[in-house]
Amino acid sequence: MKTDFSEEAEEGILAEIFEPGDQVPASGVYKASHGRQHLVSHYVTALFGETFPSCLGCSDQVRFELALSAVYVHAHAQFSRLGPDA
Ligand SMILES: [Zn+2]
Repeated sequence: MKTDFSEEAEEGILAEIFEPGDQVPASGVYKASHGRQHLVSHYVTALFGETFPSCLGCSDQVRFELALSAVYVHAHAQFSRLGPDA
């Protein structure tokens, strides 16, 4: 009997929590949740390959959760007109 995981696989990137210093796994919109509740949660964009920053208010207590994956337009194959050296 075979277990079918295909539906789960189609969900794409599972919800993960990232902290300052972690590499951004995918470009998109991330929900930032701050420590010590000094600021309400809000959304930011982050680009693949960058590093999540620490917060000026709560340092490394801020957490980032991927809310909406959205590839950078010029990185998308259908919009990539830039040459390999650009
Ligand atoms: Zn903060």
